Amino acid sequence: MISYGKQFVDKKDIRAVNNVLNSNFLTQGPLVEKFEKSLSKYFPCKYVSVVSSGTAALHLTALALNFKKKDLIITSPNTFLASANSALYAGSDIDFVDINQITFNLDPILLEIKIKKLKKKNKRVKAVIVTDYAGHPADWKSLSYLSKKYGFFLINDHCHSIGATYKNKKNYALKYADVATLSFHPVKGITSGEGGAVLTQNRKIYEKINLLRNHGMQKNKKILKDNGLWFYKMIELGYNYRITDIQCALGMSQLKKINKFLKKRRKVAKIYNDLFANNQYLVTPFVSKEAQHAYHLYSVQINFNKIKINKKDLFTEFLKRGIKLQVHYIPIHLQPFYKKKYGFKRGDFPNSEKFYSQQVSLPIYYSIKNHEIHKVANLINQFVK
Ligand SMILES: *Cc1c(COP(=O)(O)O)cnc(C)c1O
Repeated sequence: MISYGKQFVDKKDIRAVNNVLNSNFLTQGPLVEKFEKSLSKYFPCKYVSVVSSGTAALHLTALALNFKKKDLIITSPNTFLASANSALYAGSDIDFVDINQITFNLDPILLEIKIKKLKKKNKRVKAVIVTDYAGHPADWKSLSYLSKKYGFFLINDHCHSIGATYKNKKNYALKYADVATLSFHPVKGITSGEGGAVLTQNRKIYEKINLLRNHGMQKNKKILKDNGLWFYKMIELGYNYRITDIQCALGMSQLKKINKFLKKRRKVAKIYNDLFANNQYLVTPFVSKEAQHAYHLYSVQINFNKIKINKKDLFTEFLKRGIKLQVHYIPIHLQPFYKKKYGFKRGDFPNSEKFYSQQVSLPIYYSIKNHEIHKVANLINQFVK
């Protein structure tokens, strides 16, 4: 089966995991810190906390930035559910700002319009969570300008974009945002099975994340010395969002391959781009001059109004031929939960809705073979005409 994304695990990964299984620590051993060190070196950035998932990373970020009841958090409808859900976990409210029709990332112009409207109602925005959709950086310069002008926290949901560059920088996320979050789910840039990370340059945020990922428990040399070797203090209500040493071993081993992974993804994208160059019913991914795409997804738009087949049938035809396509994303405001909670309806965020109706994610991953790329592209060209 050729699917839209999948992991690549080699002998070195397996050996790394095996070593942990034969060691004294399956979790909370030495590899957690080692994985954090290698991530902070890769980006680079000052502080990294690895946690149990990308969702946990977003939840802990919400708590570390002190999201409270009645706080308003903004994200775009064109992202994974977790970007929005994390604000609700903290008891805050979520609202959306539509995407730009070229980049499909949250549009800073629409964001400022929204903020001004809210201001008139005496409401302010506490934080904005922006995903670099598919692996293409958002307009971070404008977003960061607005965050300073209006005083909101900026979070880069970096789950798609590990390895992307913006203005020639791989660590752009923290140049502009207060916090960046990663996911190591098997379809993402690198995997640890399940896993995630919070990246920041701010020590206070980092310390709070570390506290909350382990039940709000404090245990350090001073506490042990003053009170006894068994002692710990719970000073906040935290969670078990720990990641295991088994997962960290895999994550670290994968990180060593990231340049190889990125190179292949960019190569696959180039092959698709060339094969679709003459297809007038399909739009290939946008890449800004200021950016290098990480291609977590190879996301195309198909003008279904102008062709004979609809999206549902296209997916069925592909599955018959052993290819599992996917869509990213169903706009979050159209999910039953969000419709019911906030009264959102069709038409509220037209750019995201239009994008959803046309969007298809084609297979892109490290181990995809040349003939498989051609098979997918030829089939697309055969149906999309
Ligand atoms: C994958 C993803 C997440 C969630 O990550 P998990 O590790 O699956 O919890 C959050 N946001 C975005 C944009 C993602 O793609």
